[in-house]
Amino acid sequence: DNLMEAVDLHKAYGPTPALDGAEFAIRAGEVVAVMGPSGSGKSTLLHCLAGIVRPDSGSVLYRGRDLTAMSDAERSALRRGEFGFVFQFGQLVPELTCVENVALPLRLNGTRRKEAEARASEWLARLEVGELAGKRPGEISGGQGQRVAVARALVTGPRVIFADEPTGALDSLNGERVMRLLTDAARDTDAAVVLVTHETRVAAYSDREVVVRDGKSRDMERVA
Ligand code: ADP
Ligand code: ADP
Repeated sequence: DNLMEAVDLHKAYGPTPALDGAEFAIRAGEVVAVMGPSGSGKSTLLHCLAGIVRPDSGSVLYRGRDLTAMSDAERSALRRGEFGFVFQFGQLVPELTCVENVALPLRLNGTRRKEAEARASEWLARLEVGELAGKRPGEISGGQGQRVAVARALVTGPRVIFADEPTGALDSLNGERVMRLLTDAARDTDAAVVLVTHETRVAAYSDREVVVRDGKSRDMERVA
């Protein structure tokens, strides 16, 4: 039973298609790695699944509802309520402390400051960066920043986490630590993870791999 399913996605920015009939499916609680060479269409696939980019044709079903048929307002409500995002560079707000950064999505959803910051503190502790609550992003390391970014992605209780090269700016030790914390937290909350990576070591944290080549995707059986 799929939580999310994409069928025959096509998307072109210019003459060359970025997606040329891509397919994708993910179940609740599943971690799927989207792999493939640079320029193959991985990010475009993730952006279509997340409702950030509208495909030229094809459908993206989330719990049976087609994202491509929704209004912009419906799509942003869905992104805010059900999806979480982690990017290569944490994209934390530099003026805010770590706890304020993690509390931000809750504040935008109308949660009061005190409760938002209490929940943000719990998530910082879970990501093993509780002691950084009062620091600003400029005062912490890249690995610490990505753990804060993962806390921010999870604080609203998303059903799907979209992670685009979340370890791309980290050394392998910090990358593995972020992947372990991210996948443990996702499994604990039964959230699905769409993980774009070109690193085999990072993809090893997934349950399943989808390989994208020239805008076409193929499901790979994990050979144990
Ligand atoms: P990957 O994530 O696998 O590196 P992308 O999805 O980023 O691949 O890119 C697929 C193709 O689409 C590439 O040829 C890229 O140059 C092109 N592309 C992606 N995003 C844009 C954009 N916003 N504008 C123009 N071309 C784009
Ligand atoms: P971690 O492995 O926890 O991500 P590092 O080993 O990179 O952290 O850094 C160790 C300590 O050095 C951290 O506690 C952090 O406060 C400090 N530090 C590391 N990088 C930076 C940086 N770019 N700016 C400020 N402090 C940093």
